[in-house]
Amino acid sequence: MSRNVHPAVAELGQLRPVKPGRSLADQRPLLSAEWNRELNGGATPAEVALSANLRAWWNCPAGHEPYLALIANRSLVGTGCPRCRAVNGGRTTSAVWREARGASA
Ligand SMILES: [Zn+2]
Repeated sequence: MSRNVHPAVAELGQLRPVKPGRSLADQRPLLSAEWNRELNGGATPAEVALSANLRAWWNCPAGHEPYLALIANRSLVGTGCPRCRAVNGGRTTSAVWREARGASA
């Protein structure tokens, strides 16, 4: 079976090994829960560096369609689903945002 990898996330299949403890899964468990593994070509948050400057697909916890966003923007800045942001008047308020800002343990 050939994998249908979206061109935007083709780089995810060529990731270098992530240092122990520095993956997205290690550092951002809440954010990792929104990772869309299928659209990301089977790549997992454990294979991605926390600050990777690559685009990936994410699921919206509010049920909007999956969206593309830079990993570093989500993990370090705390950006979220663009549709939720529009609803909230430009702000993203979520546990993921607080996690990115270091407000959670
Ligand atoms: Zn949303």
